[in-house]
Amino acid sequence: METQYWRLDGTASDQAAIAAAAALIKTGGVVAFPTETVYGLGANGLDAAAVGKIFAAKGRPADNPLILHVASLAQAKALVREIDGNAERLMQAFWPGPLTLVLKKTDGIPDCVTAGLDTVAVRWPDHPVAQALIQVAGVPIAAPSANLSGRPSPTDAQDVLADMSGLIDGVLDGGRAQVGVESTVVDCTGPTPVVLRPGGITLEALEAEVGVVELDPALSGDKTITPKAPGMKYRHYAPKAPLWVVEGAHAPERLLEMVNKQLLSGRRVGALVSIETAERLPEGVITFVYGSRGDAAALAEALYRLLRAFDRTPANWLVAEGVGEAGMGLAVMNRLRKAAGWQIIRT
Ligand code: AMP
Ligand code: MG
Repeated sequence: METQYWRLDGTASDQAAIAAAAALIKTGGVVAFPTETVYGLGANGLDAAAVGKIFAAKGRPADNPLILHVASLAQAKALVREIDGNAERLMQAFWPGPLTLVLKKTDGIPDCVTAGLDTVAVRWPDHPVAQALIQVAGVPIAAPSANLSGRPSPTDAQDVLADMSGLIDGVLDGGRAQVGVESTVVDCTGPTPVVLRPGGITLEALEAEVGVVELDPALSGDKTITPKAPGMKYRHYAPKAPLWVVEGAHAPERLLEMVNKQLLSGRRVGALVSIETAERLPEGVITFVYGSRGDAAALAEALYRLLRAFDRTPANWLVAEGVGEAGMGLAVMNRLRKAAGWQIIRT
């Protein structure tokens, strides 16, 4: 199929593009669109056949449920059975924004959206194009990230097309996604909210709003624990070359040692590092820089784009310099460690 492409520029012509994309969604098509986290691959969330096309295009396992995207509180409330005090407070504080809430679902949501669970994941994204698309389509839009399953999520329309050209009906190009990692998924079906996936809203911000918040124990990487968000069990975000993550106070020194050793053994080394560490790397290293040492938000914004960029280089051994787990660090280190298949050096 031919994939339509619309470049948005913030002028009145955007309306026609969004209307055309919404018309495709309404008639059962699949369209990629920008959100503040990453690009989503959207279809009418109440149309099982349309949702099935998302799974087919991505090669996504059927047991991995989708998030329904809405553009108002009323639209969210129609999808869920009850909203307790915690869920209400989180919605008030962080919607629209990079927060997904898991709640008991109402009837009428196709089983393929929720992978047969009795809960549904709902989010109101904070991006003008996403909001306009949902409003004009007039339906909740089911949307996972717009990548082939297992690839890093796309943070711009070019990365969407690299995976999805010919497989979907269209792409709305709204420029680069600002946050760079996916939404925080919080299960609000029990008395204490549980973070199933760290993301664009930090744990600290959630705690400031509702007090105690738990982390799904599976986030530790312990393979014997089954994650409550089915998607978290899959290897994700992986670049093609093997990747090591170096963390902790002495990460730069340790990373330099590792790089020198790999260069001596003849490998083409790629490094994803801070500005400060980049200055100390020897010549011949394929280097991508994300920002100052410890800047988790900068690493989040750059991570998927740079993991994809390594695949376009001859590098056959990769190393990344980690950040601390405060703030956005929790989400970005979760993604980076998974991308590395848990090959982690702690210093
Ligand atoms: P994606 O949209 O691909 O970034 O992934 C959405 C994430 O939310 C995946 O990890 C899903 O497994 C998770 N998710 C979606 N719906 C539910 C649900 N009802 N219960 C638990 N996790 C969910
Ligand atoms: Mg995804």
